[in-house]
Amino acid sequence: MQVRLFPTHAQHVIKKVADAYTTVRAQVKAKLRDPLTKPIGFRKDAAQPFDDRCLSWQIPDRAISIWTVHGRMKGIRFGCSDEQARLLAAYRKGESDLVRRDGMWLLIATCDVPDTDVTEPGGFLGVDLGIASIATTSDGTRHSGKAVNAVRHRNRELHRRLQAKRTKSAKRLLKRSRRTEARFARDLNHVMSKRIVTEAARTGRGIALEDLSGIRDRVRLRKPQRATLHTWSFHQLGSFIAYKAARAGVALVHVDPAYTSQGCSACGHVDKRNRPDQETFCCTSCGFAEHADVNTARNIAARGVAGWAAVMQPDAA
Ligand SMILES: [Zn+2]
Repeated sequence: MQVRLFPTHAQHVIKKVADAYTTVRAQVKAKLRDPLTKPIGFRKDAAQPFDDRCLSWQIPDRAISIWTVHGRMKGIRFGCSDEQARLLAAYRKGESDLVRRDGMWLLIATCDVPDTDVTEPGGFLGVDLGIASIATTSDGTRHSGKAVNAVRHRNRELHRRLQAKRTKSAKRLLKRSRRTEARFARDLNHVMSKRIVTEAARTGRGIALEDLSGIRDRVRLRKPQRATLHTWSFHQLGSFIAYKAARAGVALVHVDPAYTSQGCSACGHVDKRNRPDQETFCCTSCGFAEHADVNTARNIAARGVAGWAAVMQPDAA
């Protein structure tokens, strides 16, 4: 088959190669890279950028037409949610990247969605992050980590075996399995963050989230649990909540989580013994009892109120 290279494609190829060498030159100059031991490589499946001249969107039909090295291909169907289609139609901007991953074609578009003005919150929804329940709100909604932890647990032995093999195909399988796992966690983070932001918006409240720096040190666990803890997924959940909140005009406050798990959300009494086990909170002073994570989330919500007041009146703080 004859392959013709269209001018825009040729430009992209030249630009990509030139960019790669510019990057390497900077890395070599900064002594971050040895060009002899690590030469430049170009992968066949690497992401390819397409601008509006090479790719056009028919969003209502969920189709694109795209220029390829074999000419123009029309009516290629793509899948996305209704919400994504709405965002694409309203805010898509610039180039899109076409990526081949795990046997799927992914088209990654950039949407520049403006933030909504933040509404003055009438109270705060506190969110506690943890392992057994990934996210627990001060209203008592618990987003279980069971599914994601089960997947990780199941994959752990497989990953260990693949890692030990050191063959090319084992490496590829390992990479694919890790990506599938990451996609699963990301989908879950999207679902949870959406529910949390929707609930806050519906009730006219802001969201209080613990400051995530140092969460790895804070969440101290028994060894088998430690393997299931991936700090990045909490950071991802935090960033998803942040951008969805900004889009919905929901106030977001990060609070210092110190002692939020030991303090009583009813009377403020702080005592290690308030928490006899992982799940139970029972105040030794006033007798208030609640699920431990919900109690923590209520404390975070209270700190959110104080934090917001400090943001609004910095002099008073
Ligand atoms: Zn109490």
